[in-house]
Amino acid sequence: TLKKSLGQHFLKDENISRKIVEALREHPFQQLLEVGPGGGALTKYLITLAGVNLKCVELDDEKVAWLLQEYPVLEGRIIHQSILDIAAPFEGRFTVVGNFPYNISSQILFKMLDWKEQLESMTGMFQKEVAQRVAAKEGSKVYGVTSVLIQAFFKVEYLFEVDEKAFNPPPKVKSAVIRLHPLAQPVAMKSERALFVLVKAAFNQRRKTLRNAVKSLFPADVLQDELFNKRAEQLSVQDFAALTFRMNGGGVTS
Ligand code: SAM
Repeated sequence: TLKKSLGQHFLKDENISRKIVEALREHPFQQLLEVGPGGGALTKYLITLAGVNLKCVELDDEKVAWLLQEYPVLEGRIIHQSILDIAAPFEGRFTVVGNFPYNISSQILFKMLDWKEQLESMTGMFQKEVAQRVAAKEGSKVYGVTSVLIQAFFKVEYLFEVDEKAFNPPPKVKSAVIRLHPLAQPVAMKSERALFVLVKAAFNQRRKTLRNAVKSLFPADVLQDELFNKRAEQLSVQDFAALTFRMNGGGVTS
């Protein structure tokens, strides 16, 4: 039985499965986590690719039972929980792949941020709108909190789009596959906490000038800077990161 609450749309187009696996392979990996294997559309390729270095996390009891029956090699490698409730499932570095449940896209992205010290890369399918937001640059209408926070730590590649018809049942929206790869040269910032606070405040009132949106976070003299005449969507990731050094209390206030 299909569980809508779990965002279940199963890939039926083998070409798309293969394209995702190809994209994944372009970055070498040690250990691999598949999120939401479901009916195994990707899993069957991943078993070949990663063997004993593959783990899966799947919440649906029926899918877990089915996968174990179909692919006995997965015994002991399926974490029957929500991805949102688990700690990093490997020691050391690992890669994440998945055709993600769209109802928890944002939380999955935040999980990638949690795991970033260990993440080699992530190749995943999101609803197109979310994929575009993750990849958006300043000046774009869809540039926002997610764009800045992800791009402060990862290089984002918008790989290809996927039609509704590739799935059973077809979702209501188009999809796109993106890949995240940790930046070789991390963006300098006072602290992650400071960046999160700043970016959330800035985009929370995205139609205001930055000065009005974030004035409680900066000393008065800093707020004189012309940069604060801009709106949040006009600032680059580097602009935001640089601003964290000038926040009240060095950005440690909340
Ligand atoms: N990978 C399969 C495919 O491509 O056909 C299934 C993709 S389907 C869009 C999403 C899968 O994630 C479903 O199998 C669903 O049961 C599972 N899922 C939903 N919520 C989850 C969660 N919180 N943690 C782990 N898996 C979840």
